[in-house]
Order: sequence, then structure tokens, then C-alpha cells
Amino acid sequence: MIYLKSDREIEKMRASAQLVSHTLAEVSKYIEPGVETGKLDVIAEDFIKKHNARPAFKGYGPADNPFPGTLCISVNEEVVHGIPGKRVLKEGDIVSVDCGVELDGYFGDHAYTFAVGECDDETWHLLKTTLASLYKGIEEAKHGKRIGDIGYAVQSHCEAEGFGVVRDLVGHGLGRSLHEDPSVPNYGKKGRGERLRSGMTLAIEPMINMGTWKVKTLNDGWTIITADNKYSAHFEHDVVIREGEADILSTFDYIAELSKNPDNVILYG
Ligand code: MG
Ligand code: MG
Repeated sequence: MIYLKSDREIEKMRASAQLVSHTLAEVSKYIEPGVETGKLDVIAEDFIKKHNARPAFKGYGPADNPFPGTLCISVNEEVVHGIPGKRVLKEGDIVSVDCGVELDGYFGDHAYTFAVGECDDETWHLLKTTLASLYKGIEEAKHGKRIGDIGYAVQSHCEAEGFGVVRDLVGHGLGRSLHEDPSVPNYGKKGRGERLRSGMTLAIEPMINMGTWKVKTLNDGWTIITADNKYSAHFEHDVVIREGEADILSTFDYIAELSKNPDNVILYG
């Protein structure tokens, strides 16, 4: 069941997405070699609560193994759903920070992959290609197009560079729930799948691997890693389908303003 949102609901979702954008920027001030991922999680949780919202990931999932963090922090070969903790970031790492909040009954959920200090050229290329593929997908996200048009745009852009497109995890609708219909795969065929309609709200989130697209789940029940242990990148935006260009509710601009390492913040275009 796909829920189309009213303009009033969309403004609530924009407020949630913007709080996530500000939270990622707050966290970016502390991303540098030597920081523990658990410290980043505490910063995000405090920031979200200070803004009268709820960390949406904390406690999410099965009752016998709920996700313990405010952020999903996924380093290097970790694709998504990494658990914050004692791991210390080091020069040359890449770290995906994924954040979800519930504010006034509506959810925001997006992610950015940071370079920690300097990273090598191949890693840099992975980050730039993944970010670009997100925007290629968003270009297709408009009324009258189909879900497969988004996936095709992401997949073709990344596979042309020799990268692997994760199949096991996908983007999604969001709104009054963190995950709503439809699923938004990062692969697909043009003109196939659910037709996009004005008022649909989607989280589009390419997860792109340097090597194979195949992934595994660690024994913690959450952390997804690449099957070949090569690096993976992940960027996510929340968008509203419109007749013309999609309305992007989230932004990475605040990261560019506040980051500890502004030279290594990539923005598209
Ligand atoms: Mg998501
Ligand atoms: Mg997310």
C-alpha cells in the first residue's frame, strides 16, 4: 500500500529530513582519525533529543535483537547497519553514517559516506560515483516514470565504473513509518515496476561496492559487509515525487559547512 502525502504532511517530513541533515552535519564535526564510532552515536542522540525528536533506529527491529544505536555507522567493507561502538576511525577509512528520526509523527532517514582524512584514488572514485548515482536516480524520480527507471539509472552509472550494486538491500517509501511501500531497488529495467505519482515520498539510497555486489551479515545480526571485504559506499536522500523535478527534502549542504575535513566533503554538481 503506497500512501500519497498531502502538502501539510510533506512539510512535516521536510522538518524531519532537515533535522537528520543537521544531525549528520553535527556528527561531521567530530569525524577524524582517532574518534570512536560510539562517540559519534552519543553526539547524534543528544542532538536529536535536544530538538524534540526521537532517534528512529534505536530499538528498531526484532524484540530479541533490537538495533542498539541512534546511527548506523558502517566502516570500509561494512555496507550498512553497522553498530556504533569501540571501533576507532583511522586515516584512509570511509564511514557511512545513516540517521533516522521521528519528529511530530513523521520520519526522516538519510545517509552520507565520509572520507576519514585522506583516502586513496580508487576509494575516492567509489565515493564520487556512488554520490553521482544517487542524483542520477533522483533525476528519474518524477511523476509518470517508474521505479525501474530509478534503479536503472543508479545501476548503469555504477556498473559502467566496474562497481558492484548491492541487491539484498534497497531504498523504500517513508512517511508515518520508517519503511513504507514501495521498495526502491538500486538496479532495474527502464519502464518497469510501480508507476511514480506526485505525492509519493521515497528514500533513495544506492549501496555500491568496489568489488562484488554480494554481501553477508555478521553474527551481530545487523552489520552487512561485502562478501569480498572490499570497500562499500552509501548515500541516501528523502524525496517527494512531483510532476517535474523531485523535491529533495534532505540536504548535504550543512555537512559542507560544518565538517572537520571540508576538503574531503563531496557534493554533486
Ligand atoms: Mg533508508
Ligand atoms: Mg537510512
